[in-house]
Amino acid sequence: MKHLFTPNTMSQSGEVYLLRELLDREEIACTIRNEHLSIASGELAPQECLPALWIMHDADYSRAAELVEGWRSSLHETRPQWVCPGCGESIEGQFSSCWKCGRQSDE
Ligand SMILES: [Zn+2]
Repeated sequence: MKHLFTPNTMSQSGEVYLLRELLDREEIACTIRNEHLSIASGELAPQECLPALWIMHDADYSRAAELVEGWRSSLHETRPQWVCPGCGESIEGQFSSCWKCGRQSDE
């Protein structure tokens, strides 16, 4: 087993699930750790509660890391940060709706 990816903050934890789907499509076996720890977040440092994506076979690591890199750069290329028309919050491009007020992006 080898650690592949941990999001920077809890609000980005959805990225772990996106990446798991990506790896599934490539038939790379992986697992998510800490998936259910958020319930106990009062007792652990926030960093320890973040879900983390691990790959099952070390041999898949380089291919998996390439997929993560490709996924990251495609985010930056295709979806720039946008400003919510509802509340003026700056939203990361990978989100299609505002995390603050729930409004959908116009795109
Ligand atoms: Zn908003």
